[in-house]
Amino acid sequence: MEVRRTVPVKLDVDERDADLLHETIRQFLDAANYVVDVAYDGEWVETRKSVLHEETYSDVRDRTELHSNHVQSARDRAVDALKSTLAKWKQGDSASLPTFRTPFCEYNHRNATFYDDHATLSTVDGRVTVGYQLPDESHDTPHSQYLTNEDYETTGATLHYREGSFFLHVRTKADVDVPDRPENGTVLGVDLGVESIAVTSTGTFWSADELNHWHREYEKRRGSLQECGSRWAHENVQSVGRTETGRFEQLLHRVANEIIEEALEHGCSSIAFEDLTNIRQRMGVLKKLHAWAFRRLYDYVAYKGEAHGLTVKQVNPQYTSQRCSTCGFTHEQNRASQESFCCQDCGYENHADYNAAKNIGLKLLRNQTGGEGGAPVGVRLNSGMMNTNGVVPVPDSVRVGVHAERHGL
Ligand SMILES: [Zn+2]
Repeated sequence: MEVRRTVPVKLDVDERDADLLHETIRQFLDAANYVVDVAYDGEWVETRKSVLHEETYSDVRDRTELHSNHVQSARDRAVDALKSTLAKWKQGDSASLPTFRTPFCEYNHRNATFYDDHATLSTVDGRVTVGYQLPDESHDTPHSQYLTNEDYETTGATLHYREGSFFLHVRTKADVDVPDRPENGTVLGVDLGVESIAVTSTGTFWSADELNHWHREYEKRRGSLQECGSRWAHENVQSVGRTETGRFEQLLHRVANEIIEEALEHGCSSIAFEDLTNIRQRMGVLKKLHAWAFRRLYDYVAYKGEAHGLTVKQVNPQYTSQRCSTCGFTHEQNRASQESFCCQDCGYENHADYNAAKNIGLKLLRNQTGGEGGAPVGVRLNSGMMNTNGVVPVPDSVRVGVHAERHGL
């Protein structure tokens, strides 16, 4: 299976080279905008690359000093943007024609060469060498996983300029051997929360303490810097933000890896998350940080899982926190508090997030089997399996005992 990843890298660029890159970007945007102008004659939009090549290539070579591959990529980007505008027009949306303003420029193997810690890039006046600013910690970063990993081949990059710095978004790809994982229908359910970032239907909890602790620490640092109000302080606030994001991303990579391990160890073929589309509106107490962290965690699990042959899906979260995972009785009073679940019908008691994780797994199971019965599949619990008929092969008391021991519930 082919896996593609894009890795953003901040660049070290000296002053003279920076001028050349700025000018290259300016001419690249000019070329793309020129193609848009030619493509639209007032009523008709031309989106055939071959026709636009005929109509614009030599003009753009004349009016710019761009490398021939930059001329072609600028045209391709213009065509992509024109097509998406056309699609909006067809839906009755009165979108305006595309205009390229945000600074960027495309690179491929014909106008750039990529190394482990630097690249050489064509400009309007020869090539420049740009160094990569790589993170100190070499383990488990996207850089070590894709950029310097020999299994991944670099296919190209987009140069960006923002907040006073140049960045390369390096595109990589690899042919990954996906382990043979027959679709056995076993689901690992995952509940996301503010106290525990993640809880699985197998009863494993990932605490959010570290995330919350560091978030408070960084808030304090930002607060005291903001009181200064100087330009120096403002820049430091931004740098605190970047450090924070990096630390959280590392933490979430670790949790994602462990969720994948949990699924593989328990022989699951799918992982179910709740639908995150309206996560912030749904959970009142939820901070922006958590909504961001949940989406990031889901993305990490989705792409890491893909490489292991796992299916990762989102399900409608309705009633997953109020439904009893043992008897199916659904009532808002079942949720005794933020943490505890107590079924008003059968008396089943457990941690609320753990109960929700089982329901989330069960929802995906129902979607897969199309209702009751069907193939012998189930939601993976720590020491047993639950299926859509609610049959629990292992006595619940045993399971609860195991979890109480492992997690001190
Ligand atoms: Zn019940």
